[in-house]
Amino acid sequence: MTLGINRRSFLRLGMAAGAASFVPRWTFPQATQPAPPTDRLAQMRAAGATTPIKTTKLYNNIWLLQGAGGNMVVQSGKDGILLIDSSFATAVPHIREAIAAVSSDAPHALINTHWHVDHVDGNEGMHAAGFQVVAHEKTKTRLSRPSEIKLFHMSIPAYPAGAIPTLTFATSLSHKHNGDMVELVHYDPAHTDTDIYIHFQNADVLHCGDIFFNGFYPFIDEGTGGSIGGTIAAARKSLALAGDKTKVIPGHGPLGDKTALKKYTDMLSSVRDKVAALKQTGATEQEVLARKPTADLDADWANGGSPDMFVGIVYRTV
Ligand SMILES: [Zn+2]
Ligand SMILES: [Zn+2]
Repeated sequence: MTLGINRRSFLRLGMAAGAASFVPRWTFPQATQPAPPTDRLAQMRAAGATTPIKTTKLYNNIWLLQGAGGNMVVQSGKDGILLIDSSFATAVPHIREAIAAVSSDAPHALINTHWHVDHVDGNEGMHAAGFQVVAHEKTKTRLSRPSEIKLFHMSIPAYPAGAIPTLTFATSLSHKHNGDMVELVHYDPAHTDTDIYIHFQNADVLHCGDIFFNGFYPFIDEGTGGSIGGTIAAARKSLALAGDKTKVIPGHGPLGDKTALKKYTDMLSSVRDKVAALKQTGATEQEVLARKPTADLDADWANGGSPDMFVGIVYRTV
């Protein structure tokens, strides 16, 4: 690939990209060659069709759902079901089953954490099932037109009307729902320019979307406003909201807490500082990659893959 990464790490990066994201490696399609660019979306959707959803209870009426795409959350109650993120279109039957297994309440709203395909692709199906779609206004804009993620040679057509958010906001939205105060707040551009967090204040559950990849180097979408500095600022903003008992949900990876988010934020800062220092000396991206600035962190964060994609993003956006 253009960054000189091997096939194995490319697949891994495709996963971290929120491409097939938190699919365990062994469930990711193992072609002998990387799929042609046009097939990447189909490949991710194929994973959505076959990956089962794991449900974890977080609170009396709140559950974490983990499948092929980004982590989802369900809140149930008499005001209707709130769902955060919709994974891939092909996962919609699995999501509906997982919701039905924990609640018979009526559908109410689906909230998108940001515009990426592994968080919104099921919008149309969930909307058809009765959920209105709520997101930041730029998520609506981005889903309404074709978009691309150049790093993955991935083109995403404009979504049909049924997938487009029906209620949007610019800065924040507070909503009393099922006895909890639910806060939706836009981060300044971080992983993309559409990221929001969702905080269930009484239950003390915080969904950070792709601001937080729990346990591995993140993908940051430099093509739609993302940067390492913005991601660090957003991670710190999230950290400021978290108490010792807060359940902190990452976009990808296992359920987290304040300690895990702090460790992640420290890692981001450390890589940013090292790469920025090298860049300031005039080193090119290839030279910085060759210096392996994350060598001391890779055992904990590279997850068996290559750190090069992440270091490249840091270099280009620092
Ligand atoms: Zn994602
Ligand atoms: Zn994302």
